[in-house]
Formats: sequence, C-alpha cells, structure tokens
Amino acid sequence: EYISVSNLGDALGVKLNVFLRQLEDLGFEDITEESIMTGETAALVAQEYGFEPTVDSGEKVDLKPRPPPEDPSVLPPRPPVVTIMGHVDHGKTTLLDYLRKSSVAASEHGGITQHIGAFSVKLSAGKQITFLDTPGHAAFLSMRQRGANVTDIVILVVAADDSVKPQTIEALKHARAAKVPIIVAINKVDKEEARVDLVKSDLAKNGVEIEDYGGDVQTVLVSGRTGQGMQDLEESILSLSEVLDLRAEEDGMAEGWVLESSVKSIGRAATVLVKRGTLRRGDYIVAGEVFAKIRVMLSEGGVELEEAPPGTPVEILGWRDLPDAGDQVLQAPDEDKAKNAIDYRRELSERGEAVSQMAQQELERRERERVKAEKAAAEAEGGDQEEKPEEDGPPGSTTVHFLVRGDVDGSVEAVCASIMEIGNNEVRPKILRAGPGLILESDIEYATISGSHIVNFNNPIPGHIKRMAEESGVRILDFNVIYHLVDAVKDTLSQQLKPTI
Ligand code: GDP
Repeated sequence: EYISVSNLGDALGVKLNVFLRQLEDLGFEDITEESIMTGETAALVAQEYGFEPTVDSGEKVDLKPRPPPEDPSVLPPRPPVVTIMGHVDHGKTTLLDYLRKSSVAASEHGGITQHIGAFSVKLSAGKQITFLDTPGHAAFLSMRQRGANVTDIVILVVAADDSVKPQTIEALKHARAAKVPIIVAINKVDKEEARVDLVKSDLAKNGVEIEDYGGDVQTVLVSGRTGQGMQDLEESILSLSEVLDLRAEEDGMAEGWVLESSVKSIGRAATVLVKRGTLRRGDYIVAGEVFAKIRVMLSEGGVELEEAPPGTPVEILGWRDLPDAGDQVLQAPDEDKAKNAIDYRRELSERGEAVSQMAQQELERRERERVKAEKAAAEAEGGDQEEKPEEDGPPGSTTVHFLVRGDVDGSVEAVCASIMEIGNNEVRPKILRAGPGLILESDIEYATISGSHIVNFNNPIPGHIKRMAEESGVRILDFNVIYHLVDAVKDTLSQQLKPTI
C-alpha cells in the first residue's frame, strides 16, 4: 500500500510545510505533498518522528548502496543508458527493433534472442550503448517514482509526417522533470509527407533548444524503416555521453536496478541493469525483500555471461522469490548478510503497513467527521447550501479526490504520477489512497464518504463491486491505456469547473 506525503504528515500530526522541509533534511529530493511513498519508506519516516520507536530485535542490518565516489573523474567510463519516448505510432518500436538487430551479434554464439527489457549495442572502438527496451512513458515514470534514475539520455522520437503531438510534449515534461538530456530523432524521413522544418519549428515552439536554432539539443533525421541516419543517431548518443562524462566503479560491491521480472520455463528470472561494480556468477544479491545466489547470467542474445560490468543488462536466474521491477539491487558479501538484510526489510515493511493502516483509518475517521460537520452546518443554515470547495489547494481552487487501483505496483505508481501532473490553479486532483490489486468494498465505502472517483488500471472489476459502485453513486474510471485514463481524469477535473457567469 502507498500513502501520500500530505496524508502521512497529517497522520504524524506535522504541519505540511514543516513536514516537507524536514523530509528534505532527511534526504528526500523533489518531494511535494502529492508524492507517494511506499509503506516501507513511510515507516522509516514515521520512525524519525518517534512513531513506534522499536529497537531492532537482534542485529539485523540492512544493506545500503555505497557512498558516491569521491572523485568520479578517475573512474572507468561506462556505457550510456538510453530510453526511447514519443507519441504513439511515431516509430519507437520500429527504431528499437532496428537497433536490436545490430545488438544480436551475440546470438551467433548459439544463443536465442529474447526480450529481457534492455539490450546493449556494441559499436566500433569498443563503445557500447544500452537501450531500455520498453518504449513509452509508463515504464520511465514508474522507475523514476521509485527513485530509479536509470536513464542517462532520452531519445525523443517525432514522426516527420505528424510533428509534435500531445505525448511528445508529455515525454518532454518527464525528461525535464527527471533532468535527463534529450536527443530528438525525427523519424520517417523516408516518407514523402515528411516535413522536417515544421517539426523543428514545432519543437522550438515547445521550448526545445535545438541546434539549428542555436541551442544544444541535437536533432537527427532517421528512418526506422530504411535505417537511414541510424548511425548518426548512435554517434549523437556517444557524443552526448562524452559530454555527460558517464563513469562508474568496476570493482567493489555491485549495485543496479531490476528492469523486469517474470517466471519463465527456466525459473524465476529478473533483468538487472548493473550501475556500479561487476556482478559475477555465484554472487549474492538482494532486491526489495528477496535475494538470489546468481546461478546463471544471460545476455539478451541468450548467451551465458561470467561477468556483468556497469551498463550491462543481464537476465539473472537463481531467485528465491521474484523481485519487482524498479527494485534496487545490492550485492551482499555472503548469504548470511543477504538473508539478514531481507529479514530487516520484511520487519520494516510489516511495521510500515501497520503505520499506513493506522494513518488511513485516522484519515477515514476525520473524513467522516468532516462530512458530518458539513452536513450539520448546512442544515443549520437552512439546507440548500452549495458544496464548499476543499480547504486544501490554492485559495478558491477545487480539489477532486481519487482512489487508485492497478494490476501491479509499477502501474499504480505510473498512474498516480500521471494523475498528479494534471490540474491547474482552479482544479487539482488529490489521491487519497492507492495500491495494487482489485477494487475492494472498503474502497467503495471510502470513495462514498470522501466523494472520490476510483481509477482502475489494467484490472478486472468484480461484478459485485460494479453493482456496489452504481448503488453508491461512485464513478469508476476503468482503463488499460494510460493516456486514455489521463484524458478521462482531465475530463473529470474540467467538469468540476463551474461556468463563470
Ligand atoms: P510506436 O507506437 O511509437 O512504437 O510506433 P511503431 O514503431 O509501432 O510505428 C508505427 C507505424 O509507423 C508502423 O506501421 C511502422 O511500420 C511505421 N513506421 C515506423 N518508422 C517508420 C519509418 O521510419 N518510415 C516509415 N515509412 N514508416 C515507419
């Protein structure tokens, strides 16, 4: 389960502005009242406030990433990690397919190409580029929400026959928010309808400082269909990564992120992108609340690897349980330390769940009281009073409440992040509760008392829940595609705007 910062602050009895400042002191970055925390993080924060000041039983110790290097400039260079984003049908998949083809030289060694969520392209002179193989914004967002800033460079694909479109702008916003530099790939230049100049001026209008207009954002003309310009694109990526001067330790305890995980015929498999250090067969690694003794490491070409240095995506077998995409991976010196860290984390998240449950109950209690008090006030005034705007948000603004349910952690996070980007000074969304899993009866009850809409993503809705929602007048926004969902939320918000007379 998740809790928003404003709800956690409420539950801990800290004023919001004070809470935000203190969170910054605790090392949280880019945090706003709308940020969503996992139960585990919430428990750590609650601990800081003397909540359940449990002393750890025994000597359970967590694993932590190493401190940042003192002088990064002396470290060996590492390959850049690149994500492709852009409007639907502008050619993301086609470009990735083209690039992947040049990566599978490895399969000549007898492997079978497989989708593992990322692949590396080896270029001349020993250079290498790692591409994340999940196009689109949801993957980027959900990783970022978990603090996994794995992407060094975003390739923004814009079709030359369609120019800048809503999702192009959305992708730009995400890249800017994550402070990740972009390269624009103007795609489909093989088409007669290609209007490269129009694309460039549209980009400039949207604040992209492209080179042709005196800025430093590179634009490359490509065709995923004919392969035209693809080498230029790779060269642009390399030259930008030289500017970024990407480096990492090749020794010491390894660190990385889980990109994907699934149960396959060969067992539990998770793709890990190594960020620091080098993973080897036989190493112990911890991710979230699970660990692995690395039994096999496979490249995307299906070839067994002995070593995975920084920038390498590898599929790892040997997990006791399946880790989640977005989990940080940390190497443990031995099996005991790995198990110890996991015990520590499990205990912490149990405590975290208790804290968020208490917080949630407290919020529901307050909400009920608020509704009761409002009703009483309205009756005292003669009954026919207009609904009052919420007290939170800028003065005069309306807040629209949402509960979010989705199939898995990652999508819930992506949905929450997308919703929180909507809104303006007049009307803003607020997420009261979010978590993976089916909509529950208690969700409908909570939506009823708090006047919330329920957002359901990639999840079936049980029949009795549908009926209960209808009877209680609770609206369920049910979608499988994130931008359709975003449109529906936008509509919902704009319906709240009363026409000004
Ligand atoms: P995505 O939704 O961004 O992943 O877009 P796709 O890669 O699925 O491409 C959408 C459509 O555009 C497909 O029919 C592709 O064949 C086509 N397409 C992609 N790249 C090119 C290109 O460079 N030239 C032409 N003519 N068609 C392209």
